[in-house]
Amino acid sequence: MADIRAQSLRRFAAKLVKAPYLPGLLLVAAIVSALVYTDFVRKQAAETTARTKVHEELSLIRSKLEGKINGNILLAQGLAAAIATQPDMPLSTFDRLAGHLMKSGTQIRSVALAPDLVVNHVYPLKGNEKVLGLDYRKNDDQRSAVYRARDENRVTLAGPINLIQGGQGLLVRYPVTFTDTHGKETFWGILSAVVDLDKLYRESGLNAASENLHITVGAIDHNNGSTRYFYGDRAEVGEVPAAAAIDLGYEQWILLATPKQGWNVLPEGTATFRLSLALVGLLIILPLVWVGRLMRERHDNILALRNREEQLEELSQRLEVALETSQIGVWDYDVDEDILIWDERMRDIYDLPRHQVENIYQDWERSVHPEDVEIARATFAETVSTGRKYITQFRIVTRTGDVRHVRAYGTAYRDHRGHYKIVGVNWNVTEDMRLQDELKAAKKKAEEQNRELEIARKRMEYNSLHDALTGLPNRRFLDQVLAERDNGHGSPTMTLLHIDLDRFKDINDTLGHGAGDRILKHTADTLLANVGVADFVARIGGDEFVVITSCDCAESCSPLADKLIEGISRPVDYNGHECRVGASIGVASRCDLLEKADDLLINADIALYEAKRRGRNRVEFFSDALRAVAVSNKRTADEILRGLEQGEFIPYFQPQFDARTLEIAGVEALARWEHPEKGMLPPSAFLPIAEALNNVAQIDASILHQALFQYHRWQAEGLAIPQVSVNISAQRLLDDNLIDKLRELAPAPGSLSFELLESISFDDEDDMLLSRIKAIKELGIAIELDDFGTGYASIISLINLSPRRLKIDRQLIKPVLTCESQQQLVRSIIDIGRSRGIESVAEGIETMEHAAVLRDLGCDFLQGYALARPMSADQFLAFAREYKPAAQRDRRRA
Ligand code: C2E
Ligand code: CA
Ligand code: CA
Repeated sequence: MADIRAQSLRRFAAKLVKAPYLPGLLLVAAIVSALVYTDFVRKQAAETTARTKVHEELSLIRSKLEGKINGNILLAQGLAAAIATQPDMPLSTFDRLAGHLMKSGTQIRSVALAPDLVVNHVYPLKGNEKVLGLDYRKNDDQRSAVYRARDENRVTLAGPINLIQGGQGLLVRYPVTFTDTHGKETFWGILSAVVDLDKLYRESGLNAASENLHITVGAIDHNNGSTRYFYGDRAEVGEVPAAAAIDLGYEQWILLATPKQGWNVLPEGTATFRLSLALVGLLIILPLVWVGRLMRERHDNILALRNREEQLEELSQRLEVALETSQIGVWDYDVDEDILIWDERMRDIYDLPRHQVENIYQDWERSVHPEDVEIARATFAETVSTGRKYITQFRIVTRTGDVRHVRAYGTAYRDHRGHYKIVGVNWNVTEDMRLQDELKAAKKKAEEQNRELEIARKRMEYNSLHDALTGLPNRRFLDQVLAERDNGHGSPTMTLLHIDLDRFKDINDTLGHGAGDRILKHTADTLLANVGVADFVARIGGDEFVVITSCDCAESCSPLADKLIEGISRPVDYNGHECRVGASIGVASRCDLLEKADDLLINADIALYEAKRRGRNRVEFFSDALRAVAVSNKRTADEILRGLEQGEFIPYFQPQFDARTLEIAGVEALARWEHPEKGMLPPSAFLPIAEALNNVAQIDASILHQALFQYHRWQAEGLAIPQVSVNISAQRLLDDNLIDKLRELAPAPGSLSFELLESISFDDEDDMLLSRIKAIKELGIAIELDDFGTGYASIISLINLSPRRLKIDRQLIKPVLTCESQQQLVRSIIDIGRSRGIESVAEGIETMEHAAVLRDLGCDFLQGYALARPMSADQFLAFAREYKPAAQRDRRRA
């Protein structure tokens, strides 16, 4: 509890400290209230004085009124006493007595006599005539008062009343009795006197006092205690008047008064008094305010100082922490007095006891490494003499013989005593130096490694750009060279020869890769021996080479090309074998940069293709005609790809017939391209290009699928179609996945046969090809040799393949009707086949005569327009449903 109180007290004190104006304000408040109180007391005193004064005045008026009224009453009473003693007093005597009385400075205005209650005489008569004859008994206003005076036998006072004669007056009535001759008290009548109130007021000083005061006079009613005011205005007098009572014996009056300005009238000299009060107040307060301000300022200054102190403290703490963590030592050298002050860290760096703070210059110099001391001394001396910045590094040797690297920084200044001083820092950079050394070593090592890497990279780059066998630049290198030429390196004029070896594959296959390699080296040597120094030779593929020369036009390279073919064709000895290859060359050249070097390679390739097409071992020059063909081929090639995706390649079907019975013996599926714009296209329009593009295999596969689908349809219809044959390209035959795909299709044995072109090179006894055919046969697919009699197929190849059928080419069939020797050739083919158990099919039967002749020659099957044209799947279905062999035979007979 006490604690809490102490705390709140402390808090209050703290607040007070924070509100330095508060005591001043309190003091000012006290002073102001004191001044206000003084003023108030002064006003109080003024009011009391005023009341006393009014009271005194009132008392004076009261005593005058009291005296005068009572005096008047007594005077009139004297008159009444005179009548009581002499009731029959002559009126003249009375008038004389009354006149005498009124002259004596009284306020009595008139006196009336009413013996037996009827007024019969009045003095003075003048102005009071109306009173004469007034019978009190008959006057309602006065009767009761008169009776009271008679009955109680005492003087009564009435009024103020409005007098019949005009004006206001007090009516004093005296009952008059006399003692008759018999000694009996007898009522005589009433004597009444009118006191002139206006005169009374005037003479008692009431009117004069009314100038400054509100005065009212009232009579207190005996019966109910209420007061009836007859002089002045009671309301004007207010609630706190000064009062005085007037005792008139039988009546009691009250006198009330207030000053017209009220009681709170400021006493005279108030303004001056207040001004001086204010001045006194100001004289006290102003210095207080001034002191308060000074206190405030002092307080602010103290706070600012304390703040600064705290900041300084904080700063120095931070600096301390920074220096401590960074291990930076601070020193200060007084040059004039040779005093060197070191802080603790300095001593740590120099490995000296921490407490010894003061040194001399020599202490430092002694620590410096002997090898560095000379330079260190000179550097320091220079700073001392010039005042320039001191930035240096040196080694020191510690007591234990440790060598440390120290970096130093210093700056010269003059202190407040005018001493020339240098202040600075030292820090230990031994670790940095060690790291630096390590880094240097690492850098050196890295540089060495980089050098090695560079060598390796160059080697790899060389490898990646050269053919390992011949050492010639490879395809990548060629691409780079071509790109450089496009970028303006070397002459824009250039001719590119694309060389392809003929029959290289044969050598490779028959004599092995050693022989192939020998040929390739021979070719490389030949090329290098014949081209110019500035020319570029590359091997870009298995047996493809490129030569770039600077000949300006293709034709001028003709001698070079010929020389190359001749050189390459020269036989080469390999393990006693004489190896020989040919070469085909395509040439393209450009004269300016308008043509891209890449295009040059493509153009040369087109020319090479043409050279090969034209029979190999020759040079062909690229021309615009070749380009046109190439462009159109390119467009067709794109379309073929699209057509394949869209399923535009469909089979047409041409039936084959039994030569004797003319029953349908089979169907050949022939590819058609249902071109969206050009309509139905025959194979000749797309096959060569598809072949060049390597798309024939895809076309073959598509046709095979569709043909098999149709075959199943025929079977489902119950049509007697024994088999369907499809044409198969060399590409398709060499497709590695062919056998797997065929196995998936699983055609019924004997239902499918493949027609192989005789021109497919079987002469080479290609084991792969033969094993492929064997596998096809094992799947129950028959092999037929197509276009037989036009290629170079030898009888040996026939035996090796053992096909089921030979399809005799239509070029041989056509002349059989007219040419005897041709007929003989066809018969021989049929006979040889039959001797091997091979059936024969005659193609291109265009007339029924041909059909008959071929049947007679012993041919087994016939195919040709005369019997049926190739037709769409639906057409063929309709045809097969309707077909009657007998009707066909009739046609033949006819
Ligand atoms: P091919 O295998 O010798 O096919 C027979 C060609 O002779 C077909 O030509 C056929 O319409 C035509 N022909 C049939 N009877 C007669 C006739 O009485 N007189 C004449 N002048 N011609 C007749 P097409 O359909 O133009 O096929 C041409 C060649 O295209 C085919 O010759 C075949 O080598 C190849 N071919 C057709 N379809 C395919 C296929 O799907 N794949 C492959 N690789 N080649 C196909
Ligand atoms: Ca065929
Ligand atoms: Ca054929």
